[in-house]
Amino acid sequence: MREGQNVIYRADYQPPAYWIDTVELCFDLDPAKTRVLNRMKLRRNAQMPAQPLRLDGEELNLARVLVNGQGTSFKMENGQLVLENLPAGDEPFELEIFSTCAPAKNTTLSGLYTSGDSFFTQCEAEGFRRITYFLDRPDVMASYTVLIRADKARYPVLLSNGNLVDQGELDDGRHFAKWVDPHRKPSYLFALVAGQLVAREQRITSRAGKEHLLQVYVRPGDLDKTEHAMNSLMASVAWDEARFGLPLDLERFMIVATSDFNMGAMENKGLNIFNTKYVLASQATATDTDFFNIESVVGHEYFHNWTGNRITCRDWFQLSLKEGLTVFRDQEFSMDLAGEASARAVKRIEDVRVLRTMQFPEDAGPMAHPVRPEQYLEINNFYTVTVYEKGAEVVRMMQTLVGREGFRRGMDQYFQRHDGQAVTCDDFSQAIADANPGSRLAQTLEQFRRWYSQAGTPRVKAEGRWDADSGIYSLTLSQSCPPTPDQPAKDPFVIPIGLGLISGGVEIANGMHVLTEQSETLTFPGLQSEPVPSILRGFSAPVVLEFDYPDEQLLALLAHDADPFNRWEAGQRLALGRALAYLRTPGLARSDIRLDAPFVEAMRGILRHPTLDPAFKELVLTLPAETYISEQLDTVDPQRVHMVRDAMREQLAQALFHDWEWAFEQHRENGAYRPDPRSSGRRALAGLSLMHLCIAARKSGDTVWPGKTLQRFKDASNMTDRFNALTALVVSGHELAAPALARFHATFQDDALVLDKWFALQAGAPDRGGNILPIVKQLMNHPDFNIRNPNRARSLIFSYCNANPGAFHRPDAAGYVFWSERVTELDAFNPQVAARLARALDRWKKLEEPLRSAAREAIARVAAKPDLSNDVREVVTRALA
Ligand code: ZN
Repeated sequence: MREGQNVIYRADYQPPAYWIDTVELCFDLDPAKTRVLNRMKLRRNAQMPAQPLRLDGEELNLARVLVNGQGTSFKMENGQLVLENLPAGDEPFELEIFSTCAPAKNTTLSGLYTSGDSFFTQCEAEGFRRITYFLDRPDVMASYTVLIRADKARYPVLLSNGNLVDQGELDDGRHFAKWVDPHRKPSYLFALVAGQLVAREQRITSRAGKEHLLQVYVRPGDLDKTEHAMNSLMASVAWDEARFGLPLDLERFMIVATSDFNMGAMENKGLNIFNTKYVLASQATATDTDFFNIESVVGHEYFHNWTGNRITCRDWFQLSLKEGLTVFRDQEFSMDLAGEASARAVKRIEDVRVLRTMQFPEDAGPMAHPVRPEQYLEINNFYTVTVYEKGAEVVRMMQTLVGREGFRRGMDQYFQRHDGQAVTCDDFSQAIADANPGSRLAQTLEQFRRWYSQAGTPRVKAEGRWDADSGIYSLTLSQSCPPTPDQPAKDPFVIPIGLGLISGGVEIANGMHVLTEQSETLTFPGLQSEPVPSILRGFSAPVVLEFDYPDEQLLALLAHDADPFNRWEAGQRLALGRALAYLRTPGLARSDIRLDAPFVEAMRGILRHPTLDPAFKELVLTLPAETYISEQLDTVDPQRVHMVRDAMREQLAQALFHDWEWAFEQHRENGAYRPDPRSSGRRALAGLSLMHLCIAARKSGDTVWPGKTLQRFKDASNMTDRFNALTALVVSGHELAAPALARFHATFQDDALVLDKWFALQAGAPDRGGNILPIVKQLMNHPDFNIRNPNRARSLIFSYCNANPGAFHRPDAAGYVFWSERVTELDAFNPQVAARLARALDRWKKLEEPLRSAAREAIARVAAKPDLSNDVREVVTRALA
């Protein structure tokens, strides 16, 4: 990618040549042609050599430019508006720019666009330049005043950041609203909303006694689905104040939901804009997972108010400064709300599962990049699981190294130093370290920072040695990191490793070792017998742990480890070991897959365990994901991986049949619906049980359980139970699935978010003789399908290409052809969504022939298209490199 002409490098950062102090925007909203008047006060940045002012702009029609009220000469260069004849000296000057744009034609969902009959904006990362000419970069922070004018009947609600200072009537049925944001902000945090919306409102008083108004805006029919989002927002406000001493700094905090949104949600100052998926919930239409996701995303965006908005990023290479930290904060928030230790552990396991099934592959593929990338062609391609999830793990390791209280001191230091500034990842780690002198972080800071600069997932190899004569157990830990694009060799990382030793079912040691050298040996003297090591407890670092655990040791850990993460991990390793052994058996047939008694009994032991949390049981009894299994192989046949996992699941279904029956009966009733960790865990285990019962029934020809499942599907009082029952029928391939799907569609045809589930379930179902792709193609023609709506496109196309490897990687390459057609189709109107889909073939080099060549060809076909967006071009060029 180095040769590319538009590539932007971190090393090239220059401070802005001008500052923008104030911005007054005046909008005359019209879907076809919106007029934007932008009055700014600017001044030269005295630290920079004198140079012309270059303002970013995209898809704008420029009508007029005035400097201090006078017409001026200007030119356009690379899409930028360039002003050379500015007043001399360091005096501030006024710049007035009048331009128009076409929101209804804006299909990219970046900048100002319409959704339904409303206006929305999306400015991160570089959407503000599609609204007006500007220094559209995060280190230029200005004070905003916004006047919005629009037709009153069509757009009764007019919103922007900050406080409403004036509103009133105009001629011709129009009205206006004027908003002033009391906080300076970068342009990416600007927002405007206009339309027919209604709000749930809540007044709250902060710990300091200040009054605030919280509002959640939705379309009129959706008000009854906003209670959970509002509760989540109130919990977020209280949590940030209690845990980090960070209060709400606004009189009014608004969330607005839109059904057309590229991402999950956006933290615009005081006016968060959300994908409806992360706002709307009722027990009839949303699953437990939806409820938890809403809580976490509402928290995430709210926490950005301090980590992102009060202190923002100097440049986009520092994206993890706000995203890694804010993901860490939302994870901690969810854990604190979950309460009990076992519920915290469940959340931790879920987060690690996301990291390992999504981020580890990214870090091993062509798009691998450091948490703080060095270069990009299109910044939108770097809103990645590496920047977000691995970035959060890096912050978590800092907390591990300085302790929870030390981390709080570090956060205090960070805000004391940098409030109101645009800073770097180094500024953050410096603040945490400086607040904790003498800590392991402070001692190793320079080396620790390699987590920001080096890509790739480190591997830690552990080797144990037991000397019975001396009673000494020694453990050698060695680290390495595979090469990644542009980084052939890596230096050692600072790796905190949670470590326990278990002997005779009793824990005899528990601590944290910080690995800094390439290899270190720890010794434990005075032991009676060989201990079982529990390594990387709590998943204390984002690494792959290699240790040749004998089965007896894994069985012991699964039965006894006091660390719930490693207890779960032991079960995953047992299953993974078996899956890999099957996959390495040449000429393996499905009927050769026979799970051994010790494994089955261990799983039975967990399922029947008298005290373990049902949510935890559900996690242990879920086999490792196909993508995770595939990552352990050098070459992959995804259909074979699917076959092996599917057969293993079928065996568990049959061998534990009566245990699943027991588990279902034990956990099916949960009283009045509440999406709390306890009862949702019970529903999850009941759902998993039902799935296994239906799978076993498929094998045995039993019709009782499919019948009961259909009944449960019909009778369910909440979406979790209903959808779990439907999923059990679809996944097991029972003939009752078809009528159930039809009924589900008929019941929920007016609810877009539920229809998304309906599409996703069918596109993600196990392939039977290549049947899924034809179903997906048929669904593309369904009257409810609309590729322009990102949620709907994801629910059908992404569920197939990204989340159903067994169905997508067809030997006839028809899946790849479908993929390449959809990427180019999407790219014509929404490059961001297209580029995400383009990443479905990231790992093509690992595929077995003939898949590998077919995938390469499909990528090359996309790359050869003229007029590709930078977004898709960057992804496919890297894939082919
Ligand atoms: Zn974020």
